[in-house]
Amino acid sequence: MTRRNTVLLRGIRLRCPHCGGGGLFRHWLQMADNCPSCGYSLAAGNRVGANLLNLVVAEFVLFVGIAVVVGKSWPDIPWTLLQWGAPAMMVVTPLLFYPFSKMIFVAFDLAAHPDAQPDLKVHGVE
Ligand SMILES: [Zn+2]
Repeated sequence: MTRRNTVLLRGIRLRCPHCGGGGLFRHWLQMADNCPSCGYSLAAGNRVGANLLNLVVAEFVLFVGIAVVVGKSWPDIPWTLLQWGAPAMMVVTPLLFYPFSKMIFVAFDLAAHPDAQPDLKVHGVE
């Protein structure tokens, strides 16, 4: 497995993309600023990208959910279910995916810039 794949898989598993360490979240919606194992900065520069990723995933899940409900129930579409279920999905999905979007985007950033280590030096780790 390449280093890039390892970094991305660590992010998907909510592990530090740099070292694979855990304990990166104080709770579901609050990520630590730095990895407790290696000091890699998790906060710098990933907010917009992570939020965009979260929004795209939520929209995709909504689209697939509506398509499945409409496809399975055609021609008697349950409009009341869609009326209440779609907004509920748009609230719940981003909350459930939030930590994954954060860590996946940190992993994307590290995979795209594997030699950029200035954050470790700033925190005195290397
Ligand atoms: Zn780490």
